[in-house]
Amino acid sequence: MEPVHFTLAGALSAMEEGVVSSVELTEAHLRAIDTLNPTLNAYITVTADRAMDAARAADERRARGDAGPLTGAPIAIKDLFCTAGVRTTAGSKILGDFVPPYESTVTTQLLRDGAVFLGKVNLDEFAMGSSNASSAFGGVLNPWQRRDEPEARLVPGGSSGGSAAAVAARIALAATATDTGGSIRQPAAFCGIAGIKPTYGRCSRFGIVAYASSLDQAGPVARTVEDCAILLRSMAGFDPKDSTSADRAVPDFAAACHASVKGMRIGVPAEYALAGEAQALWEQGIAWLRDAGASIVPISLPHAKFALPTYYIVAPAEASSNLARYDGVRFGTRVPGEDLQDLYERTRAAGFGAEVKRRIMIGTYVLSAGYYDAYYVKAQQVRALIRRDFENAWADCDAILTPSTPTAAFAEGESQDDPVAMYLNDVFTVTANLAGLPAMSVPAGLNSQGLPLGLQVIGRGFDEQTVFSVAAAIERAAGFTALPQVMA
Ligand code: GLN
Repeated sequence: MEPVHFTLAGALSAMEEGVVSSVELTEAHLRAIDTLNPTLNAYITVTADRAMDAARAADERRARGDAGPLTGAPIAIKDLFCTAGVRTTAGSKILGDFVPPYESTVTTQLLRDGAVFLGKVNLDEFAMGSSNASSAFGGVLNPWQRRDEPEARLVPGGSSGGSAAAVAARIALAATATDTGGSIRQPAAFCGIAGIKPTYGRCSRFGIVAYASSLDQAGPVARTVEDCAILLRSMAGFDPKDSTSADRAVPDFAAACHASVKGMRIGVPAEYALAGEAQALWEQGIAWLRDAGASIVPISLPHAKFALPTYYIVAPAEASSNLARYDGVRFGTRVPGEDLQDLYERTRAAGFGAEVKRRIMIGTYVLSAGYYDAYYVKAQQVRALIRRDFENAWADCDAILTPSTPTAAFAEGESQDDPVAMYLNDVFTVTANLAGLPAMSVPAGLNSQGLPLGLQVIGRGFDEQTVFSVAAAIERAAGFTALPQVMA
């Protein structure tokens, strides 16, 4: 088999059996990046020499009988995770030449477990977006094409568009990503791969460029549910450097992928009704889980309809505060000015793109003295109600099934001049962030244009295992084997 077509699990066992080496796997991926990245623009920075050094060290480590859980596996890192000595841009001009002196906790743990980093992958600027169009390093092309209109340039989703496109196109075995309102699940759904946003606090946020700190979570994207489970186990764990990190044991998520869903109660929220192909696929997913022995329970999330406006107050508010640090004095780009105020203004005007500026303005507005109670405090109150809806639902069900996104991938330019239309992409995903719950997108079928659609499984806090079991049951039933047209 071509080395780039291994799953992560398959590559790890093939290395263990001596069928393939990390050097062969890494070389094959670097060759595929050379061929495809000019088209896809998934990588911002390729660290070929570092990757080959790490691959050689991994093969030696395995030969010594000292392999870790990921030894030798070439993966991609979203360019939002600080990597010591390797440029970390957050998709922004303002961090265009920022080289962190330290490593994020998540990437430290991946290195500890033996992963090989191929490079840093593209994203919407500061992870704000649903199409990857807001990256200062250019958009990413989705490797899938419409059947009737193959020339249309489809977006990979966002903000983890580079992560999802790289994994779908076989130029990384798997990738790290982050999710504030859907940035793991929506690009995974658009690119026909799996991705999980774990429970808030499961993965350390230390060393991840902050967007909205009460919502941001790191998680994996990969081509199978089990591959996500393997990667998440290495990414997760308590970290004293993040005060919101949870001191919880990290379970064997991969084992949960093989557990039956017989007897599980799957909640189907009445409020999420939609039309068209996504609705049909949702009904198919319900039938698959019923056939696998789960019982289907109608549930109600009465405040879900307020989730999107709540998110678009809370997230910009936190972003406006987090992004205040990019002042031209402490990090990255500096545009000189006549005095300090002028330096701040020129630096931020030149360094931030339009979407980031829009969010900073919204955030500053909703936090301003005159509007704080009307917007920010109100949004916090509604957030509590959304969380309570889920608490009530868990009395009746063990996991919740919804579509991941209202539609399949759209083309560049479509709905991009209307920010509100773009924000609607997150309508099914933001609730899990507001409530801090684990949620996974799993590829479940193709629409009439041959484009992937995903189903979302939401679980109780710190019960990723049930999420993995249900997602794996859907994966088995769906038998999703379609491949993108642009591929290594
Ligand atoms: N699309 C959402 C936004 O633009 C979510 C982004 C994310 O999860 N990082 O904010």
